[in-house]
Amino acid sequence: MPRSALFSQRSLILTLLLLLGCGFLATSLLSYYASRSSIRESIVNTELPLTSDTVYSEIQKDLVRPILISSMMAHDTFLRDWALDGERDPAQISRYLNEVMGQYRAYTAFFVSSATGNYYQAQKGVMKKIDPQEPRDAWYYRVLKLDAPYEINVDLDMANQDKLTVFINYRVFDYSGNFIGVAGIGLTVEAVVRLIDDYQQRYQRQVYFVDPQGNVVLTGSKGGAHGARTGQSLRELDGLRELLRQMPQPVSGSHEYLSSDGHSHFLNVRLVPELNWYLFVDKREDGALDNIRQSLYLNLVICTIIGLVVLSLLNAMVKRHQDNIETLATRDSLTGLPNRRGFDLLAAQALQESQREPKPLVALLIDLDHFKQLNDTHGHLAGDEVLRQFADVLENCLRQADIICRWGGEEFIVLLKDTDGAHAQEVAEKLRLHTEQRDFSFADKVIRLTTSIGLSSLQPEDTLHSLIARADHALYRAKQSGRNRVCVEMPRSDYE
Ligand code: GH3
Ligand code: MG
Ligand code: MG
Repeated sequence: MPRSALFSQRSLILTLLLLLGCGFLATSLLSYYASRSSIRESIVNTELPLTSDTVYSEIQKDLVRPILISSMMAHDTFLRDWALDGERDPAQISRYLNEVMGQYRAYTAFFVSSATGNYYQAQKGVMKKIDPQEPRDAWYYRVLKLDAPYEINVDLDMANQDKLTVFINYRVFDYSGNFIGVAGIGLTVEAVVRLIDDYQQRYQRQVYFVDPQGNVVLTGSKGGAHGARTGQSLRELDGLRELLRQMPQPVSGSHEYLSSDGHSHFLNVRLVPELNWYLFVDKREDGALDNIRQSLYLNLVICTIIGLVVLSLLNAMVKRHQDNIETLATRDSLTGLPNRRGFDLLAAQALQESQREPKPLVALLIDLDHFKQLNDTHGHLAGDEVLRQFADVLENCLRQADIICRWGGEEFIVLLKDTDGAHAQEVAEKLRLHTEQRDFSFADKVIRLTTSIGLSSLQPEDTLHSLIARADHALYRAKQSGRNRVCVEMPRSDYE
């Protein structure tokens, strides 16, 4: 294949490869980024706020109801009358607290009297005396000075094997508004933690609660995002450094941040006013985008396969087409032999080889005798058929390595490789004789034919043109001297 054709085919395939590659890549990336942005949007605007809402309403059910119960206890006339009456029968208050606990399925119910410092508990009666020196009782002295009517405190419950408990500590006043103690109920956080775990697992996001000072107050059983544990400050969490720069104190709303390990996170923060806690719902971007990233890779693999299949099919088609064109351009359609163009390519190569080695090379220029007459007598189609059959004669009488070509009309040219003049003359004579003796046929008619052959041997200073010119001259002499003969045009020393 000529270099220019090869080059243009290669550049065509490369251009198509580039176009297909860019096209597939652009559409795959466009659809990836479009899905990514819509997924991000739905996480930030819908999914996380929705989880917040759901968790919030569940929490309300579980945590806000106890506040109402504690408020009811703090305003209960029995409890206040009993305290104001000198706390005479502890069994009475125990019964009362037990009833509250049973009725509302609380984990514990208590009353601490400011007059006596007694801590009354549902099952245990007077459990202990409040002591200002005791760190565990610090909560009481905090509530004593509290401006708000109550506080929520996550603490260990001494009455229940130190289980982590959410206490509602409600301030109790007498009928004149004097502080007389703290009442309330406690509930174990197990239920809330289970709820958080359930959400975390079901929706693949982290849920935890943070107080306004930025301390983690409640997490799932395995902690919150970045290993947040109850009691820790957000500042202690490495993963949240970037977030804390944007949001030093918890602020309600949607946030996006990069954790220290380089992952992108979405965060929804919402104040639960009844608890004065912030609910954090945190989702890592990767998890959400894994599926579409996988489909991007799959897309690219499919596109690559399709691209390669299309290109290799195209390559094969172009090659076949080019081969066809080449064959058409270099072959004679009537005899199937190389035409003059084909001959030029083959002969140039043969000449080069012969001159390089050096090896002898002989040209035979062959012209059919009185072919015009043959056409006139038997018709043009018969002439065509004889030309075809004569081409077969040439191919049968000569070697595979020899170059045989239809020179034009009823003329043929042959290059005998590695053959000296004397031997070539024998070959030419054999050809002439075979043609003379052979019966050519067309439509049951027998046609006889003779041929004149001009022979020339390659000389060191020869070009293809000079070699053929000498053969042509010899052929002329063959015609002149009566046809059906071989004439040689070469230095005498070569064939004598
Ligand atoms: P000479 O012995 O001097 O070669 O006589 P000639 O008739 O063969 O020579 P001339 O050059 O006068 O005529 C060649 C003829 O060959 C004329 C042309 O019509 C015929 N011819 C050339 N090509 C074809 C072909 O493809 N098919 C047929 N049927 N005839 C052809
Ligand atoms: Mg002729
Ligand atoms: Mg002729």
